[in-house]
Amino acid sequence: MTLDLPIYMDNASTTRTDPRVLEAMLPFFLDTYGNPSSRNHSFGWAAEDGVDRARRQVADLIGAGPKEIIWTSGATEGNNLAIKGAARMYAKAPAGESGRGHIITAIHEHKAVIDPCKRLEREGFDVTWLEPGADGLITADMVAGAMRDDTILVSIMWANNEIGTINEVPEIGALCHEHNAIFHTDGTQWVGKMPTNVDTDNIDLLSFSGHKLFGPNGVGALYVRRRRPRVRLEAMLDGGGHERGMRSGTLNVPGIVGMGMACEIAGREMEAEGERLLKLRQHMERSLVDAIDVVQVNGHAEKRLPHLTNISFGFVEGESLMMGVKDIACSSGSACTSASLEPSYVLKALGVGDDLAHSSLRMSFGRWTTAEEVDYAIENIITAVKHLRSMSPLYDLHNEGIDISTIQWQAH
Ligand SMILES: *Cc1c(COP(=O)(O)O)cnc(C)c1O
Repeated sequence: MTLDLPIYMDNASTTRTDPRVLEAMLPFFLDTYGNPSSRNHSFGWAAEDGVDRARRQVADLIGAGPKEIIWTSGATEGNNLAIKGAARMYAKAPAGESGRGHIITAIHEHKAVIDPCKRLEREGFDVTWLEPGADGLITADMVAGAMRDDTILVSIMWANNEIGTINEVPEIGALCHEHNAIFHTDGTQWVGKMPTNVDTDNIDLLSFSGHKLFGPNGVGALYVRRRRPRVRLEAMLDGGGHERGMRSGTLNVPGIVGMGMACEIAGREMEAEGERLLKLRQHMERSLVDAIDVVQVNGHAEKRLPHLTNISFGFVEGESLMMGVKDIACSSGSACTSASLEPSYVLKALGVGDDLAHSSLRMSFGRWTTAEEVDYAIENIITAVKHLRSMSPLYDLHNEGIDISTIQWQAH
C-alpha cells in the first residue's frame, strides 16, 4: 500500500471534519435553515430542535446540563468570555481602581488565556503567573501557594497544546471551591479525547472548540456552572440576549449541529481511540529515542495526552529539520511564522534551551492516523536527523567527548 503524502500529524492545530459530522450539518444549510429565534414558523422550530439536540450532545460529553452550555465561536472566545466575564462580574472594586481582585494562571497557557489575563492586569486586577517545572506540570500545591483572600478566579488549562502535559485539574478545582474562587480550565486539547465530568472534576467554567475534536471550525462551547455555585459572567457582546444574555448573536446552527455530532461520536469512541493513539505515540517515542542519541521527549513522562508528542533533537538546526521532514505536516518549536525567531514560549517555560526548543517537533495524531503513517514518519525523522548530523562539526566534537558548552568561541 502506498501512502498519501504529506502525512497529517498536526491534529492539535486543527482536525479534519468527520464525514458523519458534515452529513449531520448539511440539512441545516439547505433545508432547515431557519433562525432558531424565529418562534412563528416551522423553519425556526426545526433549527431550534437541532440546536437543542446539540446542546444535549455537548452537555452529555462533559457531564453537564444542557442549560449550562453557551455557544461560542471557538475556544478563543470561550476563554475570553470566561476570564474577562468572571473577573469583571466578581470584581472587588470598580473599573479603573486598583485592588479589583486576584487571578491565578500560568506562563505557558495558550495565548487565548494569557492575553485576556494581561488585559485584566492593565484594568487593575492582580495576576499571579505560575511557572512550571521541567515537566510543564501545574499542581494543586502550586495554586495553593498563590491563593489569597481576594483570589476571584483561577485559570489553568487541562492539557497543554504544545507538550500535552495534563495538569491536576480536579485537585485545583477542589482547592478553588474551598477558597470560593471560580475555576476556569481551557479544555480545548482534553475534551473529546479524555473522560470529562464537570462535577467530579470540580470545574466552574470549561472552554473547548469544535475544530479540535473532528467538528467544524468557528464553533465552540463554554460550560458555565449553574448550581453550587451559580456562576455569572459579564457579557462581551451586547445584543439580542441570546444564550442567557451571555453571548448575543444569531446562532451558527450548522456549526452547532456539527459540534453536537462531533461530541456524540467522541463520547462513543474516545476510549478505544485513546488506547490506539497512545500505542502509536509510545511506539514513535521509543523508536526515535532508540535510534537517535541526544534526543528528549518534552513534557511530563506519564501525565501526558495520548495522541501528542513533542521531541527535541540535539545537533540539528530547526529550519533544516523542518525541511528534512517536509512530508510530515507537523509543528515545530520555532515560531517561524512570526517575524521574530523566538523559540516556543512553552518550551522556554520548561527550561528547554533555545537550540533544543528550535529543533523540536510536535506531532499530534488523530482519528485517521494509521500505524503505517507513524512508521513512515519515524523513518523520515531518523533519516533527516542522521543526515543533518553527518554535516555537523558540533556533533563531531560531541562524539569526540568534547563538552560543547565549555568551548570558548572566538569572535573576529
Ligand atoms: C486551539 C486552542 C485554542 C484556540 O481555539 P480556537 O478554536 O482556535 O479559538 C485555545 N486553547 C487551546 C489549548 C488550544 O489548543
